[in-house]
Amino acid sequence: MKSTRTTYISKMATDLKPSGIRRFFDLAAGMEGVISLGVGEPDFVTPWHIREAAINSLERGFTSYTPNAGILELREEIAFYMKNQFHVEYAPKDEIIVTVGASSAIDLAMRTILDPGEEVIVVEPCFVSYVPMVELAGGVAVRVQATKENDFKILPEQLESAITSKTKAIMLCSPNNPTGTLLNQAELKAIADLAIEHDLLIIADEIYAELSYDDEEYTSMAAIDGMRDRTILVSGFSKSFAMTGWRLGFVCAPIEISSAMLKVHQYALLCASTMSQYAAIEALRNGRPDVEEMVKSYRRRRNFIVQSFNEIGLTCHEPGGAFYAFPSIESTGLSSQEFAERLLMKEGVAVVPGDVFGASGEGHIRCSYATSLEELQEAVKRIKRFIDSL
Ligand code: PLP
Repeated sequence: MKSTRTTYISKMATDLKPSGIRRFFDLAAGMEGVISLGVGEPDFVTPWHIREAAINSLERGFTSYTPNAGILELREEIAFYMKNQFHVEYAPKDEIIVTVGASSAIDLAMRTILDPGEEVIVVEPCFVSYVPMVELAGGVAVRVQATKENDFKILPEQLESAITSKTKAIMLCSPNNPTGTLLNQAELKAIADLAIEHDLLIIADEIYAELSYDDEEYTSMAAIDGMRDRTILVSGFSKSFAMTGWRLGFVCAPIEISSAMLKVHQYALLCASTMSQYAAIEALRNGRPDVEEMVKSYRRRRNFIVQSFNEIGLTCHEPGGAFYAFPSIESTGLSSQEFAERLLMKEGVAVVPGDVFGASGEGHIRCSYATSLEELQEAVKRIKRFIDSL
């Protein structure tokens, strides 16, 4: 019988929209002299001793697969790190999986917990992959909007009104991409109370946990009373250790969830890159001074850019973490897409329009300050000239 097929592509893949961040990368890529505040990655090269550990692993011939969950030595280091830095304890053998970046950890979490039609509450503005990850896993993403009036902190009552009988989890990110907003212990606790009351999981994307600039100590969702066993904690090496290209992350969860995740992971990815895992062991053992240096530098840049934006009339709340400023461009009367496109064409500065991160991101632009202070100074000069010209 002759096929009536019109396409090989699934409806799901057809309906997926390309990431709005990529569109701006592509536009900027062909242009000369562009200053990019668009990219969400450190401008630092991975510290040499970490690169050297990977080279040594290759020299020693460690080129085969590792266990599905990752090299045990690395999982032990992760357990030690999580306990030391964030006061949460996980068993290296059963509760930690080394993944291909935090990206695959998020995917793994969704695929493991969701039955078709189950809902995940996604707090926007947020990292562009959350909603597609929920949908690709057969779930339904229920978007709730954190607003600038609350410094982009989601209120428990907003979450509560989105909970239905199908809600399985809340996806949270603190410090947040794109807003830089950091939730303190009391704010996390209020969300945790809701999760406990409604028997929900929290998928806590804590990839920027190390990059927090407040005096108050960073609190992990899993460290809140009663939350360790209902949190899937996602983290990784990309941001804090400047290791985006190594594609290495990890996920920690109570044994019931992590053993189910491991089944999915072993078929989907088998294991993370061996050489990257050796690099990560070195990062955790000896990389603390590097992280501290980078954090110092990000803090200086944050202070500069936030103050500069406010001075030139782009109201900007002080981001508590990550490396993004999220100023309002409402005073210009332009949409975030128009602002970003015209700024790029006229002044050669690439920023990301806030609406790509969700409805409440409209009226804002995301500016990554993971770039040198000199470049930031020049970018602010150009942005001011652009605003003055409007
Ligand atoms: N989560 C957030 C909030 C991010 O901003 C990013 C990258 O930009 C990721 C996860 C993905 O990180 P990875 O490079 O570890 O896959």
